[in-house]
Amino acid sequence: MTKDTKAVAKKTKAVKVVKATKKTVVKTKKVAAKGRGRKQVVKKELEPIVLQPPRGMKDILPEDQPYWEQVRRVSEKSARDYGFSRMDVPLVEFSNLFNRSIGDGTDVVEKELYSFVTKGGDKVALRPEMTAGVARAYLQHGMNILSKPVKLFSTGPIYRYDRPQEGRQREFNQINYEAFGEQDPILDAQMIQAATRLVQSLGIKAVQVQINSIGCPVCRKEYKELLVSYLESKASKLCVDCKRRIEVSPLRILDCKEDKCSQLSAAAPQSVDHLCEECRVHFKSLLEYLDELDLPYTINPRLVRGLDYYTKTVFEVWSGSEEGRKSALGGGGRYDGLVKLLGGEATPAIGFALGVERLIIEMKRVQAKPYKGPKPKVFLAQLGELAKKKSLRLFSELEKNGILVAESFGRGSLKSQLRVANRLGVEMTLILGQKEALDGTVIIKNMVSGEQETASTAKLIDLVKRKLKTDNVVVYHEEHTNI
Ligand code: AMP
Repeated sequence: MTKDTKAVAKKTKAVKVVKATKKTVVKTKKVAAKGRGRKQVVKKELEPIVLQPPRGMKDILPEDQPYWEQVRRVSEKSARDYGFSRMDVPLVEFSNLFNRSIGDGTDVVEKELYSFVTKGGDKVALRPEMTAGVARAYLQHGMNILSKPVKLFSTGPIYRYDRPQEGRQREFNQINYEAFGEQDPILDAQMIQAATRLVQSLGIKAVQVQINSIGCPVCRKEYKELLVSYLESKASKLCVDCKRRIEVSPLRILDCKEDKCSQLSAAAPQSVDHLCEECRVHFKSLLEYLDELDLPYTINPRLVRGLDYYTKTVFEVWSGSEEGRKSALGGGGRYDGLVKLLGGEATPAIGFALGVERLIIEMKRVQAKPYKGPKPKVFLAQLGELAKKKSLRLFSELEKNGILVAESFGRGSLKSQLRVANRLGVEMTLILGQKEALDGTVIIKNMVSGEQETASTAKLIDLVKRKLKTDNVVVYHEEHTNI
């Protein structure tokens, strides 16, 4: 964090919520009165502006951006490595897309959907996850004719009207992978591998995978009946929410965090014991692939994931360390029925999403490295009116040639500009004074030895490049990576 951003952060903390005082705005309006234009004064009370975003939403400040940049870079590289193409879908979709695909009885739709009616009367909602939108786009753009599996990668904000707490926001970001058109469990194993590899590439080395199979609509129907009859026999001991869930979504009771419900679900029938032959073989093969990968996993018979569209494999990725195990970093599963439900042909598919904010909390906790951008090696100082005018063009020339330059154009004195150059730790300062501006030259000051030489502006770019190279310095950008 720079001194400036620290100061800003300090101030912001001190003034946690600043409410602007009520102001009265006086608006004047021309009204026709008695055939002449006359001004009438209309007074309007303005709502005070609350200087904070809505509850559960956060700004991402400059000092946190290196973590975000690292997550962006690592996830884009991982998507490329695993053959996923980037696709972006809108933040807003028609509400019924979510109602139908995620399911009316799920928490995400029933309680957490940010839905509203537009001025044109459309019922829309902010996306509470990405799979439904990506599946809609897959169908709309006829991607089913592409060679399978069609692998798509997206990232961006997600909205859930949940109760905010540590690691739980109303606006948060996800990295999302989807693969359409392949039913072989080798793809399930590869998706789990991609998710864990991504988390580990961020420096979160200890990762734990939890896995389960919740079967297909055929075997799940039978399993649900068994589960419901077990739960009905214990209904009086369930929490209020779970009593209601027996009817609408009995599987959710298995991952209820209430003590009394956990105790009951520990003894409940497990889906893995009631899979049909196809689902059983699928799950068994998946576990064999994971064993082959030496990828440690735990079978969690109570892992059901909250959404209706899941079939067969479901999984979650957790931090492997004790303190980090408060919340999942990500999760996903198969949704073989979703594309058909949306009107397409039967298309097996699998996906997962990782929560960016949770990844960053964990990166900070394990002291993983954020992205370290390139630092300028050159500072451009100017002195006098003419030099100041010329310096802007010179800056642009250097930038066009890939030389990262710092400046402090607003400062007049050379001394204060050199102070900034020193603070930035640049290798050289280019000084453009009144004389140099007239002569078409620039002074090059070596900031280590203090030596100075004069060079013509025409040859400056080549000279600076040569000097930076001789000093064994990377001239420009992007090659720095700690991925
Ligand atoms: P889900 O599909 O709900 O399991 O979400 C996938 C991942 O997104 C979770 O494992 C979290 O990392 C992240 N996530 C889900 N809900 C929230 C939230 N309200 N705030 C922050 N991150 C979340």
